Amino acid sequence: MVKETGYYDILQVKPTASSEEIKRAYRKLALKYHPDKNPNEGERFKLISQAYEVLSDPKKRDIYDQGGEQAIKEGGLGGSNFSSPMDIFDMFFGGGGRMNRERRGKNVVHQLSVSLEDLYNGVTRKLALQKNVICEKCKGYGGKKGAIEKCPMCKGRGMQVLVQQIGPGMVQQIQTMCSECKGQGERINPKDRCDKCNGCKVVREKKIIEVHIDKGVKDGQKLVFHGEGDQEPDLEPGDVIIVLDQKDHSVFQRRGHDLIMKMKIHLSEALCGFKRTIETLDSRVLVITSRPGHVSRASLASQGKTAYIGSFASSARRHHDYR
Ligand SMILES: [Zn+2]
Ligand SMILES: [Zn+2]
Repeated sequence: MVKETGYYDILQVKPTASSEEIKRAYRKLALKYHPDKNPNEGERFKLISQAYEVLSDPKKRDIYDQGGEQAIKEGGLGGSNFSSPMDIFDMFFGGGGRMNRERRGKNVVHQLSVSLEDLYNGVTRKLALQKNVICEKCKGYGGKKGAIEKCPMCKGRGMQVLVQQIGPGMVQQIQTMCSECKGQGERINPKDRCDKCNGCKVVREKKIIEVHIDKGVKDGQKLVFHGEGDQEPDLEPGDVIIVLDQKDHSVFQRRGHDLIMKMKIHLSEALCGFKRTIETLDSRVLVITSRPGHVSRASLASQGKTAYIGSFASSARRHHDYR
């Protein structure tokens, strides 16, 4: 019995979840609610990260199970002592941490939905991505050489002060980032601006990447495409990280290197023996037979037995015995 289920609820898992299930839940939710994909769910992204930080650590999970959120707080975690959600995310998906982030563009993580057949047989998928590339025409300069000038809107401060009337005789001053120079303090004179990128230094381009999925790779596998992230002037581009997300299969489940299915049989079949065929994920047909008189636990058998019908290991290891 656990004291509270709050963190488990956030990750949408049961309190009995294995560490593997917790990882899987975090992976799916963190990708779904990452600010890049869901800018309005920042608070939710933070909670997902905090729940994962506690539940992924056996010691902290133990403390939480026994004493709830209060015990976590008393133990020194909680409030601002949680790691930043971005650090947790980068650690999980291999983003390289904060130091790296300053010298390199950020990594982009995409989820790729794959079927169990894809993982069993291997497949190559093409993925179309949008990314920023340095403008060819101005070589990332944004305009003609020497066209950079101090931003006339903010006088080079990068900030603008807006004065708003919020009631009779009442004004509010709001400081915002200068929209003209995007906080840079300088801009390229409109008449000298590169017409291809409109002074943005980069252009958005579609890029097709080929994702080779080897036979037998696991759900959650990460495939890294080095330097395929957004390009920015004076920064080394980050990576594109593809995370495989296996769709549930209607018949088969994977357990380690084995593929299993549950088959319901009638009591009469359990008693008298039977012969059934099943089609495997690589389209072989297997015949499953059970001899009559071989059934001593008819009641169990009639509730479904487990047949091992394939393996994710090398084909030499594939077996199909009926247990
Ligand atoms: Zn400005
Ligand atoms: Zn340009």
